[in-house]
Amino acid sequence: MRKLLVAVAATVLLFSCSQSPHTESEIALGTVCSITSYDKYDEPYVSEAFGILRDVERLIDFHDEGSELWYVNLHAHESPVKVSDELFALLCKAYEVSERSGGAFDIAIGPLVSLWGIGTDGARVPDDEEIYSVLDLVDYHDIVLDPSESTVFFRKKGMMIDLGGIGKGYAADLVASFLRSCGVERCIVNLGGNVYVIGEKAPGKPWTVALQDPDTERGGYYATVDCSDSAVVTSGAYERYFEAEDGTRYHHILSSETGRPSESDLVSASVIGPDSTLADALSTACFVLGSEKGAKLVRSYGLSAVFLTADGRIVRIDP
Ligand code: ADP
Ligand code: MG
Repeated sequence: MRKLLVAVAATVLLFSCSQSPHTESEIALGTVCSITSYDKYDEPYVSEAFGILRDVERLIDFHDEGSELWYVNLHAHESPVKVSDELFALLCKAYEVSERSGGAFDIAIGPLVSLWGIGTDGARVPDDEEIYSVLDLVDYHDIVLDPSESTVFFRKKGMMIDLGGIGKGYAADLVASFLRSCGVERCIVNLGGNVYVIGEKAPGKPWTVALQDPDTERGGYYATVDCSDSAVVTSGAYERYFEAEDGTRYHHILSSETGRPSESDLVSASVIGPDSTLADALSTACFVLGSEKGAKLVRSYGLSAVFLTADGRIVRIDP
């Protein structure tokens, strides 16, 4: 029997500060989303912040017929589709990472995500012919973003944008800036492994974020990252995958070159920086690129990263 397995958090936080924390969790963006605050006056803002996650779903949910992205995917091959400023800005950012990663991160990945049934109960292994038939539709170069009109156009019928590799990071940025605007000074946002820490653990002391070890029970970790006011975003093969009847595991990060789950030397890639949207896209890109090219990409942005290779090496990249 095939199983769809979705793990929740790639990263957990250790050694929380002395005040008793208040955590609220909900399922959103296809994962468990938690927000932890440390001041009881902040609790109403935490509850309100979950509304932002619903807004992001309405904007970019790949599977929801009511989302703005759904409309784009349905019509952008006919003529340019005018989109909201918010979606246009996110698409431009995602497009830039697609370019700078040489297509390792590719927002045109939609037809492959759909074919493999990534994130659905219908996940399956397509045959070679099916893969070849959609590969030609997976190339961000064929997406035309026109900033003067805020429009999106697909050069080929059948193309689809998927923002699953950047959406949770984007949502974490929105939540963090909302909470900051409400005066929240210390908080942890964890959207299924996309962690954002607001403020410091204690005056002068950073938070410690633990990076989950794919090989141990949930909760075990292979490295830690000390940071304040920062995102720590992880992409891993163990995060979301399904098991075929023969027991082979297929994970959810796909190569736009082969049309199959990417195979690099990495089993986990975490990117650290103040911009969670960017860190999310880069963590997916690094996972596909592997340790050497991934390190180059992260350095070109002046960010930090921690990689775990399949043979157990920990690679730390500092700006
Ligand atoms: P997670 O969603 O588990 O945090 P990622 O941020 O790495 O992990 O995003 C993986 C998701 O991104 C997939 O579920 C799919 O929607 C999408 N995706 C898969 N492969 C690619 C790719 N090569 N480029 C861009 N997006 C991808
Ligand atoms: Mg990502």
